[in-house]
Amino acid sequence: MNTRDASGGWLEIDLDAIAANWRTLRETVGSDVRVAAAVKADAYGLGMDRVAPKLYAAGCRNFFVAHATEGFTLATMIGRDAAIFVLNGAMPGTEDAIAGTNLLPVLNSIDQIEGYRACARRLGRALPCAVQVDSGMSRFGLSPADARALQSDPEAFRGLIPVLVMSHLACADEPAHPANRAQFEAFRTLRPMLPEALASLAASSGIFLGATYHFDLVRPGAALYGINPTPGAANPMRDVVRLYARLIQARDVAAGTAVGYGARFIADRPRRIATLAVGYGDGWPRIAGGRAFAVLADRPETRLPVIGRVSMDSLALDVTELGDMPLAPGIPFELVGPNVPLETVAENLDTIGYEVLTALGSRYHRTYSGI
Ligand SMILES: *Cc1c(COP(=O)(O)O)cnc(C)c1O
Repeated sequence: MNTRDASGGWLEIDLDAIAANWRTLRETVGSDVRVAAAVKADAYGLGMDRVAPKLYAAGCRNFFVAHATEGFTLATMIGRDAAIFVLNGAMPGTEDAIAGTNLLPVLNSIDQIEGYRACARRLGRALPCAVQVDSGMSRFGLSPADARALQSDPEAFRGLIPVLVMSHLACADEPAHPANRAQFEAFRTLRPMLPEALASLAASSGIFLGATYHFDLVRPGAALYGINPTPGAANPMRDVVRLYARLIQARDVAAGTAVGYGARFIADRPRRIATLAVGYGDGWPRIAGGRAFAVLADRPETRLPVIGRVSMDSLALDVTELGDMPLAPGIPFELVGPNVPLETVAENLDTIGYEVLTALGSRYHRTYSGI
């Protein structure tokens, strides 16, 4: 028996495509700009232990995680010469542990700056870090008033070595949104108030706003994993993920038959229903019925709708369209892949590719190509 057969579905992750996407972004920004990689949330659900070493081997030397715990784990997976930026900064009490590694906290507030400065004083050495300013998203970073206060305090960064000044765009996936230009201008105004360091503003979508948004370092995550950074236009990235769910059983139901919890689907005529071994415990939301669809690999022209309420460990497909084609137990249905693009899945589920990927969870059997 292989473990793939014992799982409800399997996830195929193409590491070569992730590395190729990283190189594509490097060509897009040119040789003067560093291309980092966001590998937070277990590399968007795809497995940081496989993704980060692949990107390191491709030449990536700057990584972004959200939490220090993610950074400590990442530090064991890649070379010491890589910088690991912790986006949430150093939580109180974690400063000394962070300072003892190659992690760099992104200091987001005057409190975080003071905490890390005190740590440098305790340890008796200067500590590299990044500093974030809020250019208009109101999520992370120093306000303009904070930045002005720091500018007038010569002691503000004593004991700290800021290597990166960054901010984050809220609307980069909508190129015509006026917030992009406004945030760009705000960042340009705030930057000289802070110590001189490399500057970074763009994540995946920001890269495609043009060279003025690139500064010294770009921080893509989504685009590496095949998520379209230019929604509404063709996806310039290679697909990375395929997801298949296995058939448990199929049944023919008469008109008027209810399917699933809450009897939310009632057959309007005789229908054929397939039960697949993937549910909301695997990232297929309970409300996916009536929105998502699957495709049988041998019959790519079919669109087999998910119906009724999704259960924790299973979902129902209406496979009436397949006629009386034999459906052997265990056969795979494609949920994400060449016939069901991730972007389509996300649209159908009223969300974005980021949420679809990070929700996938740990139950799928995983196959990595390009290890
Ligand atoms: C997650 C994140 C990124 C990566 O964003 P993508 O849209 O996935 O490219 C970059 N910078 C910050 C601050 C982030 O939180």
